[in-house]
Amino acid sequence: MVQKIEWSRTRRDLFLKCPRAWYLRYGHQTYSSGINEFQTSRRPWDLMLRAMKEILVERLEDMREGKQWSPLLLEHQLKFSLQKQIKQTSHNISKRYFEALLRYANHRFAMLWRCRIIRQLEQRKYPCWYVLDRTESVPIGTRRIYASPDLAVLIQNRWHLVRFDMQSAPKKTSDEFEANAMVLWAKHHGGFPQREYSYRLHTIGWRRGFWHTETFQPNKQSVKQCYKLLEYDCNAMLEVHQYAHSNLALLPLANSKKTCESCSFRARCPGGENLVIARHEQTMLELAQQSASSKA
Ligand code: SF4
Repeated sequence: MVQKIEWSRTRRDLFLKCPRAWYLRYGHQTYSSGINEFQTSRRPWDLMLRAMKEILVERLEDMREGKQWSPLLLEHQLKFSLQKQIKQTSHNISKRYFEALLRYANHRFAMLWRCRIIRQLEQRKYPCWYVLDRTESVPIGTRRIYASPDLAVLIQNRWHLVRFDMQSAPKKTSDEFEANAMVLWAKHHGGFPQREYSYRLHTIGWRRGFWHTETFQPNKQSVKQCYKLLEYDCNAMLEVHQYAHSNLALLPLANSKKTCESCSFRARCPGGENLVIARHEQTMLELAQQSASSKA
């Protein structure tokens, strides 16, 4: 059976940080299994980001219908969503920490509502815009691609695709490639134009205390390049997947100790205890395996 590989920025990030963690998280779960062990052991901070994202989508959908949220309603919704997220995990967090997380979320929301595009939508400057579902994937060849923008806004014959990152990583060269994936998604989704020049891309992410907006103009070449890189990622994931079937113990470990510190699988991974020793043991195991197969 051909293994179906799913690509998303989150999957890619984890794969680049630790192929083993990627495999444990995505590699051997069935498509329908949804919540798994990783889900239940997410850190409270990540749950706060998830709650924010959930409420952002709800608030934008209400805004589209002309409903405004009061600060009190926002606080209530955030609290409810965070409580719901925490109930699904094994974490027991103190009331004080919970309140602190809520304050962070509220503050970020207040700042986000000052962003230009949000203000323009609130002022009803553009009549044609949609809130999209990030969990909606499109098939591209044998792959499933999760790269939906959060918003699609039609401004002067051009679709502005907007993605919100509740917590952005520092700027990197692959940002443009990842943004271009939104065009691939739109072109395969249907209902959007095929011409690359009909789009403009925006990523709005929280970094170092502010919401930063990055804007990219896609073209034929950048989208083609994005497709190639995406294929490259998927092939590398497929390789790790096949490797895991022959020997899970030899799956590449994390690049950095920092990744292990916040990893949900550290309790059952040798890298979680001591990454340097685990890497060394893995090399010995590889050598033993190579010598056994050369004798056979
Ligand atoms: S503990 Fe470290 S090496 Fe092990 S899966 Fe997690 S990130 Fe990877």
